[in-house]
Amino acid sequence: ESQLNPNYSFENFLEGDSNRLARNASIAVANKPGGTSFNPLLIFGGVGLGKTHLAHAIGVDIKDKYPEKTVLYISAEKFTQQYIEAVKKNNRNDFIHFYQIIDVLIIDDVQFFSGKTGTQDVFFHIFNHLHQNGKQVILTSDKAPVDMIDIEQRLLSRFKWGLSAELQTPDFETRVSILRNKLYRDGVEMPDDVVEYVAKNIKTNVRELEGAIISLIAQSSFNKKEITLGLAREIVEKFVKNTKREVSIDYIQKVVSDYFQMDINTLQSKTRKRHIVQARQLAMFFAKKYTKASLASIGSQIGQRDHATVLHACKTVDNLTTTDKQFRKYVDDLSKKLSM
Ligand code: ADP
Ligand code: MG
Repeated sequence: ESQLNPNYSFENFLEGDSNRLARNASIAVANKPGGTSFNPLLIFGGVGLGKTHLAHAIGVDIKDKYPEKTVLYISAEKFTQQYIEAVKKNNRNDFIHFYQIIDVLIIDDVQFFSGKTGTQDVFFHIFNHLHQNGKQVILTSDKAPVDMIDIEQRLLSRFKWGLSAELQTPDFETRVSILRNKLYRDGVEMPDDVVEYVAKNIKTNVRELEGAIISLIAQSSFNKKEITLGLAREIVEKFVKNTKREVSIDYIQKVVSDYFQMDINTLQSKTRKRHIVQARQLAMFFAKKYTKASLASIGSQIGQRDHATVLHACKTVDNLTTTDKQFRKYVDDLSKKLSM
């Protein structure tokens, strides 16, 4: 079976400036799988902007138009697990063969391949085989190919063969139409001012937008209250607070020291050992980025340093992020952990 979710259709994917290119390219690919220059089609963009939805929509539409074609949707994570299993059981060749006879292969979140050389290698061979045989490959990623870290060059260059299309944050009008469409499909009525209020205040991604509407509907039915602007204000306020809770400097030090497998005392110590200095500088950098604390206050909380030391740490991190790939991976990993 193809693992496709029929609710993730093109019809349900509202168009706006933020997604027009990606949506149209997806439709073109679905009309002629393997028969356009968009091969592979790589859809990239931040969390909750519709990558998985579009990837499914392509598969759903192809299954509809070309029932005889084999379409497979799989997350990069699951693909990796399957591959590891196959190697353990001495089935590597069966694994490769299984994927080489698929007509349309959709792999979601390929950034997961980062650093996994075995999986990248096997995917490289599968990709080449499919591409040479005119089969369609669709990939999604949270980054553009140029920003991908720890992915082999030869694979990156394949990613760039076709089309990379970005999903951006939808503008207000698009957010309103996404909400209206969802409410309509769920058979829920909601006053215009409420819909607009939610769309205006929740801007980061579509998943959160839907989440806010869902809690609004739930609250109104649990408490038998009408969905009014007042209720929307209450809920959206809570929602925004919960999703943007400020992280503390202690928490940052904990996350950074866990990441580098050292304890907080080591991170704060006076030592000049390079990896410890770097961990400390990263903690300072993230404290500056994610809290409102002053440089002086950050310094005093991270091992009694002065404000100039913190400033220097922030600059060092900025520099290393642009010049040192490994270091940039630290920053990316930690950003993810801290923004959960
Ligand atoms: P991603 O994979 O990029 O993290 P998803 O595809 O899971 O994001 O999308 C998150 C939610 O937002 C899903 O419920 C999806 O249906 C919805 N969504 C995103 N973009 C749109 C859109 N343009 N129109 C309708 N729904 C959308
Ligand atoms: Mg996704």
